[in-house]
Amino acid sequence: MSTRLNNGLDFSEERIMPHRITLLPGDGIGPEVVEATVRVLEATGVAFEWDRFEEVGAAAVEAFGTPLPEPILDSIRANKVALKGPITTPVGEGFRSVNVSLRQKLDLFANVRPCTTMPGIKTRFDQVDLIIFRENTEGLYSGIETFDERLQIADSIARITRAGSNRIIRYCFDYARRHARKQVTLVHKANILKKSTGMFLAVGREIAEEYPDLDFNDRIIDNMAMQLVMHPEHYDCIVTTNLFGDILSDLCAGLVGGLGVVAGANIGEEYSVFEAVHGSAPDLAGQNKANPTALIRTAEMMLRHLGEIRAADALGQALLDVYIEGTHLTGDVGGPCSTTEFADHLIERVAAQMAV
Ligand code: NAD
Repeated sequence: MSTRLNNGLDFSEERIMPHRITLLPGDGIGPEVVEATVRVLEATGVAFEWDRFEEVGAAAVEAFGTPLPEPILDSIRANKVALKGPITTPVGEGFRSVNVSLRQKLDLFANVRPCTTMPGIKTRFDQVDLIIFRENTEGLYSGIETFDERLQIADSIARITRAGSNRIIRYCFDYARRHARKQVTLVHKANILKKSTGMFLAVGREIAEEYPDLDFNDRIIDNMAMQLVMHPEHYDCIVTTNLFGDILSDLCAGLVGGLGVVAGANIGEEYSVFEAVHGSAPDLAGQNKANPTALIRTAEMMLRHLGEIRAADALGQALLDVYIEGTHLTGDVGGPCSTTEFADHLIERVAAQMAV
């Protein structure tokens, strides 16, 4: 007998309905790690239909005169979920970051970045298990910048709103409770930036009172940077503003083996864009050397978001097995393998897990 689901489909029909996902390979190492990740995802047996856009960022400027063509946004609005490779942003000039535009235009307010110790990677710490919740739409990334040519004065406004602070901090507390985490640390610079991050801290203190089951503390950003490189095991869920979250997540990536292994998700009320923490790594691009683990772990987060729990568990276990085994890792974490060799080996493990 088939099980009726809320949406009126029965279980067997539901299983064969593919997930339609917007796919942005991006540039630099993006196409290589996206290709590996798509192959690994397909090895789980979950059906996907990819709505693929090759041109984004500089390539889209060349082809269409804009770095973020409207059909990409239309596709994500229709599919609700996207999987994305990194996109290069020109430094100090040129077009505005496509990554930031996507987050703002789709109101992806929560950037969730788990940093956990992986077996098989030699690091200074062996018990790191923390998650960064970065506010993703405001702060110094608001895009409010002016430059007075005559006086040579530049202003960048860090706009922080009560509503924006409220939703990211509440998201972090809810996540912590749902996942049986113990502690929330709010990171700020309220001693100096009394108005902007001062309000962020005040909102955090108010919300913390509603969650007496969770320990709450706060840290000033500079102290937090030191604490994290000395005692990362003291921290659990960290919620902070946009720029601090960006910097701390690269710092935390360094604690667990580097940017090649750290996943991320941009979550909003309506849409979600899954992308690793790392950028386009021009130093590795086109050489089949990049570690696809970060995007594969990101894809595991996407599977959970899609309700594909069995596939997510199988993928997570297969990845863990490959790291424990330690023979088929990429160069950034001390292994001898290329991107594709790593993916081929993982695919065998995923298939074996799905067969259990
Ligand atoms: P990066 O993250 O691209 O690289 C930093 C270092 O980490 C490099 O040494 C690189 O080789 C290494 N690294 C990164 N990903 C790796 C992987 N998967 N495997 C192995 N090593 C990896 O940062 P960057 O060099 O400062 O930035 C390059 C470009 O990426 C810039 O244009 C930046 O704006 C862009 N960027 C994009 C995103 C995004 O698309 N979300 C995020 C960050 C940076």
